[in-house]
Amino acid sequence: MDMELYKLTIHEASDLLHRGEISSRELTKSVLERIEATESKLHSFISIHPEAALKQADKADWLRENPNSKELHVLTGIPFALKDNICTRGIRTTCASRLMEQFNPSIDGAVVKKLKNAHAVLIGKLNMDEFAIGSSGESSIFPHTRNPWAADRVPGGSSGGSAASVAADQVLFSLGSDTGGSIRQPASFCGITGMKPSFGAVSGYGLIPFATSLDQLGPMCKDVTDCAIVMNVITGFDPMDRMSAKISHPDYTSYLKQDVSGMRIGLLRGWMEGTISGDVRMAIEKAAKLYQDMGAWIEEITLPHMEYAVSAYLLISSAEASHNLTAGKGMRMGYKEGEICELDELAVGSGLQSLGASVKKRILLGNTGLCNDNYEIYYKEALKLRTLIKEDFDRVFEKCDLILTPTNPDTAFLFGEMEINVIEMYKYDAYTVPVNLAGLPAVSIPCGFDSKGLPIGMQLIGRLYGEGALLQASYAFEQNTDHHIKSPVLITSTD
Ligand code: GLN
Repeated sequence: MDMELYKLTIHEASDLLHRGEISSRELTKSVLERIEATESKLHSFISIHPEAALKQADKADWLRENPNSKELHVLTGIPFALKDNICTRGIRTTCASRLMEQFNPSIDGAVVKKLKNAHAVLIGKLNMDEFAIGSSGESSIFPHTRNPWAADRVPGGSSGGSAASVAADQVLFSLGSDTGGSIRQPASFCGITGMKPSFGAVSGYGLIPFATSLDQLGPMCKDVTDCAIVMNVITGFDPMDRMSAKISHPDYTSYLKQDVSGMRIGLLRGWMEGTISGDVRMAIEKAAKLYQDMGAWIEEITLPHMEYAVSAYLLISSAEASHNLTAGKGMRMGYKEGEICELDELAVGSGLQSLGASVKKRILLGNTGLCNDNYEIYYKEALKLRTLIKEDFDRVFEKCDLILTPTNPDTAFLFGEMEINVIEMYKYDAYTVPVNLAGLPAVSIPCGFDSKGLPIGMQLIGRLYGEGALLQASYAFEQNTDHHIKSPVLITSTD
């Protein structure tokens, strides 16, 4: 078939595979050629596995040729890739860290098992910020992923490779992880659709943790339909994950209807003043207007404690990260024989000296927030704020079905732009971290472009386990706009 197969969405490719018009081998080869042509400019991947992928593609084709096969699934034969903090048996899983550079897991993460059972085709492992800590991809020990829309700009983070690979049509979909925005922020920077499910909806078994009470795996896709398809596969209770929610999940594709009439959408207007770029504000206003035209009610809302969310998030996530990264490695609470030491000094001999500066900073912050009186002054206060933020959301969801915000206050920034002022970078997380603190589901979908031609993302936040309503409202918006169809013009090496 003479077309650019790598450009297809999951649902388009799946239809063609089902009708026998293309084979998974053809599709996988097309994707591998696309990677070949673009990867030296993009650096989305940490590892690529063409031979294994083609073998899986052949298996998928074989299954499709056997009409009796019960093993067929919409994802059968569909090429995808995984963020490199998700364990894959026998395939190096690095977290983009020197510390894990040679780590070869003996298990598959729960999501990997599910995708293998569906016979999706794993192409490779994707670039990220070291241990998923960061917002730009610049803390990876590997060559930094570029934004497909502008090579001098970051793809976002920490799931930067996951977003860039989908935006640049290197894979049909990817998985990312989101602790404070790491699926939604890169999705918005790269102009794709990314969903952070409710806490506990997707098993995190086999995900190398950053902050255990906040981490959540989710799909990064070319459109909302694909998100629903991937959600159907990756969600579900898993006794192997202590944080897994014992709930039954609906068929998420049943929510893909163009109907938002009567839906009540809360718009966080007051809080937006002065904090976001004019272009982003305009795009959100336009989105709200479109929802109104489609029959939804727009109500202005406030979340009074949201302004404390970034501080609370930094303390809680860093405390958990310091535990996850240092437990059993000779470091406890920033102390060594009763004394506070320099982190570098502590790190020597524990293997932690190989960590990058941003990870060390967070461990230090986490330890500082936990030790002695600081526990009461900082950590416990952060936990109280977390409760207040959750209560803010509960109040809004008494009268609203969804909340609309920008995903980020501005579009993708330049490489090096945030180096001197990380606080500026943390501000990019202002709309996304409250959602993780409250455990709610949220999605980022393309809603326009700024004056530089960079994609703008809008965030919809749902009730706990309210992914269905979220997908429905996202789908309705997407079907009435064309932002998601636009692709970056990449200068490929074959051009
Ligand atoms: N940018 C945020 C941070 O650096 C979020 C990271 C994430 O969600 N993994 O903490």
